[in-house]
Amino acid sequence: MESVRTQVVIIGAGPAGLLLGHLLEREGVDSVIVETRSREYVEQRVRAGVIEYGIANFLEESGVGSRMRAEGLVHHGIEIRLDGVSHRVALSELYDGHAITVYGQQEVVKDLIAARIASGAPLYFDATVTSVDAQTTDEPSVVVSSNDGDRVISGGYVVGCDGSHGVASASVPSGVLRRYERLYPFSWLGILAEAPPATEELIYCRHPRGFALYSMRSPTLSRLYLGVNPDESLNEWSDERIWEELTVRLATKQVVTISQGAIIERGITPMRSVVVAPMRFGRLLLAGDAAHIVPPTGAKGMNLALADVRLLAPALVASLRDHDERLLDAYSDECLRRVWRAEEFSTYMTQMLHPHPSAEFENGVQTARLRQVIESEDTARALARNYVNLSSL
Ligand SMILES: Cc1cc2nc3c(=O)[nH]c(=O)nc-3n(C[C@H](O)[C@H](O)[C@H](O)COP(=O)(O)OP(=O)(O)OC[C@H]3O[C@@H](n4cnc5c(N)ncnc54)[C@H](O)[C@@H]3O)c2cc1C
Repeated sequence: MESVRTQVVIIGAGPAGLLLGHLLEREGVDSVIVETRSREYVEQRVRAGVIEYGIANFLEESGVGSRMRAEGLVHHGIEIRLDGVSHRVALSELYDGHAITVYGQQEVVKDLIAARIASGAPLYFDATVTSVDAQTTDEPSVVVSSNDGDRVISGGYVVGCDGSHGVASASVPSGVLRRYERLYPFSWLGILAEAPPATEELIYCRHPRGFALYSMRSPTLSRLYLGVNPDESLNEWSDERIWEELTVRLATKQVVTISQGAIIERGITPMRSVVVAPMRFGRLLLAGDAAHIVPPTGAKGMNLALADVRLLAPALVASLRDHDERLLDAYSDECLRRVWRAEEFSTYMTQMLHPHPSAEFENGVQTARLRQVIESEDTARALARNYVNLSSL
């Protein structure tokens, strides 16, 4: 079997793996990125779209933010819609003038792939890591399977940026990692539509029939979500039914704000929280969704993934270049402190905005929580801080 050596083996070309490779490359540390999917697939995969203030700055400082700055939509507020009435949360006014940037995850991925290819550093698509050995040797390795056959890639470190069903965490002997998990009794049906957004800011809507979110990815693309039951399937949702339900839930007492267009992507995502701890097993490290999942209501998934590697890259550089392990030793605890904060915020947003079909008491508490956001400046300020910049606090 062919064997290759590098300094850091990175499994997965999502936002975490690609940014890590980029940051290492800027510091002169070699890495190989292995991605099971094709380039076309990862560049078209529609997922997150809200970039926090501090993360957007970091992408720019790292040299991969120029298109995001040119094309991303800067938002200074969000709307909360309750009982058909809109209330604006003025994020920037409440939080030091800072704003979020709306820019699709697939665009972040495209920018990072372009930077990687321009650097000439190795990035293998259509290549699957089938096993990870970080236990029996000082030099961890992975076995990679592709159409060209199998090969072994070894390095000083292996980093699992391979998402929530990855091979990296599964390779760790049982009993070493603890997995904390919560499933919510809702899923999100998300669509991407060729329709200019009918609103300038994101609308988070709590309606007696369920949650809805109006968001966008560009001036011509709308991204809309409906809270649905976890057992529902896409077959039950015709285009007509999706638009009807969005129209009912998002309607205000004054106007019906929705613009329709061809649905070009759709999917149902279960809402869950997962934390895997610690995020390290010797010379195997975990970053991004490989170590934690948040329900998307707080818009934290991609931000957390990028924030992990913002810490991990200098830690790997210090270890490989200066034999200084201190940053790596602190990596898991530092990340997990932030991850639990994000879990708390995402749970808060999820539980506040998704009505329970038959739980009257919970619905009363939810409405009271939303009223706090609407009526109390202190509560709105706390929400704004977390929404705009949690990953950098
Ligand atoms: C369906 C879905 C919808 C989402 N929607 C939203 C949203 O609306 N808003 C929001 O804030 N967040 C959303 N998220 C969360 C957000 O997209 C993730 O937090 C983000 O993608 C994390 O980046 P990552 O790099 O850690 O992982 P990923 O982006 O998942 O990247 C992991 C990569 O590893 C690759 N891989 C996996 N196994 C292997 C292997 N064995 N060998 C080689 N490669 C491998 C995968 O193909 C993938 O490219 C969504 C997530 C999902 C799954």
